[in-house]
Amino acid sequence: MRSELISVRDLPTDRATVFSSEHGDGNGLEDLFDADCFARYAALAVDRLADHLADQSIRGLALTDPALILAAATELTQGGTPDNPELHAQKFAEIIDLYARTGIQVYSPGYMGRQFSGPFPVTAVVDLVSAVLTQPASFYEAGQLPNVVERIMGGELNRFLGFPADQFAMVTTSGGSLANLTALLAARNRRYPEAWAKGLAGSGLRPAIAVSDDVHYSITRAAGILGIGEEHIVRLPVDNGRRIAAGEVRGALDAAAARGLDVFCLVASAGSTSVGAIDPFDALADIAAERGLWLHADGAHGASLLVSDRLRSRLGGLERVDSLTWDAHKTMFVPAACTMLFYRERTASLMAFQQEASYVFEKTADIYTAFDAAEKNFECTKRPMIMSLWVPWALYGSAPFAEKLELLCDLTEETHAILTHAPDFVPLHRPDTNILCFRYLPPEPLDDDALGRLQCEIRTRIRARGEFFISKVDLDGHAALRVVFMNHRITPEHIHLLLNEIRAVAHAIREEQPHHKELPQ
Ligand SMILES: *Cc1c(COP(=O)(O)O)cnc(C)c1O
Repeated sequence: MRSELISVRDLPTDRATVFSSEHGDGNGLEDLFDADCFARYAALAVDRLADHLADQSIRGLALTDPALILAAATELTQGGTPDNPELHAQKFAEIIDLYARTGIQVYSPGYMGRQFSGPFPVTAVVDLVSAVLTQPASFYEAGQLPNVVERIMGGELNRFLGFPADQFAMVTTSGGSLANLTALLAARNRRYPEAWAKGLAGSGLRPAIAVSDDVHYSITRAAGILGIGEEHIVRLPVDNGRRIAAGEVRGALDAAAARGLDVFCLVASAGSTSVGAIDPFDALADIAAERGLWLHADGAHGASLLVSDRLRSRLGGLERVDSLTWDAHKTMFVPAACTMLFYRERTASLMAFQQEASYVFEKTADIYTAFDAAEKNFECTKRPMIMSLWVPWALYGSAPFAEKLELLCDLTEETHAILTHAPDFVPLHRPDTNILCFRYLPPEPLDDDALGRLQCEIRTRIRARGEFFISKVDLDGHAALRVVFMNHRITPEHIHLLLNEIRAVAHAIREEQPHHKELPQ
């Protein structure tokens, strides 16, 4: 029996005609590398994806029983390999449609839930170009243009960041988590110069890092990987905007020192994952300077605000950090992964990895190897990810990035105002970026636990209805609803629709379960 998930609109006749041309669509190796064959598959995919982009209906996610997707994908895998070009086209179209239909609908105004977005369409085409040309970017000889462009984009973005122009360095990494790990490794090696050769045990010290209570899990994971140990993470309290309470940092560091911990690095967020909060970098840079600490900014989510003249001042003091993680695949709207790791000092960028491997690293740099990235990044084969950021930058400059971010941040503030004025909702913080957390308040008062469980149930049901996709986050131990605006086509009308949907769902829950304390755990 054919899986109900596999279906496809009829192939357009002109396309079908193209696919039944004389040559190039058999299963022979030469057929598969045929240039016309490539052109036809690309045309088919572009045709389908253009329709996908054009669909502006409100839809979040069609959450599907994995058994159904497994059955459909198994059928596509084991259903035989057709030797007829039209059937190849048919199967390829079925795969694209299945892929598109089962994804979070990131181009829809109903999508408000996560930190990824539909990228600028041109950047997706650049990814296709990069995949065909295959120029891995750790070594200049393998990726000449990407390595040169990395220098150029480092300089372009540093105009907004403000590190010393003749001293800073930038390297791309496969994701913000890896950038955070790399920066902490550099910080560790600066403080414990013997650690690379002899391990941490040789120092006789108890290395520790200090982080915001809201820090991303990749930082605490990095501490585990680096041998710092999760128990040697000093948690810094946050204020009611969920930013590091700068006034309490010195006391927390003194207490850590009294416990025998050797704190070498302070990690703060430029846009925390949970609420988008921007930590007070100027105050933290003062403390880091005073105590000789490495200050790392995790700007995976929010560093992009730098490109907007209107939003940049929210990141005051960022130019004083030692290192900065900046994900272009989040708020620069390019395909994942595309992350940049900036160091204020070039010498610091060489501290993370201290290996010598004669087959790749030349002892003395020549004009070519001077452009190699490999000494600064963990990857050996690395996606030439900078290309998908550089191409739109070269075509349009910074303006579309700034414009989109400004629209998203304005929408978030407007949503905050809407929630403030609604008697049955409460926003939980003023937004620093494009993330906002809030709770729905039912007519009868509930204790914190029951209120949190109600938010979870609301989120689950909203997702199941398939129109809106929002997320959930725990703040101070209790669940809250969370929106992340990544789609500039969302308007206040959509926000009102979402709130009404939440009200309807909450009403249904109350009808079914008059005693909220009995909500499922
Ligand atoms: C998303 C995020 C990360 C992780 O980045 P990836 O690119 O997903 O690996 C780290 N820190 C913050 C603040 C984030 O929002």
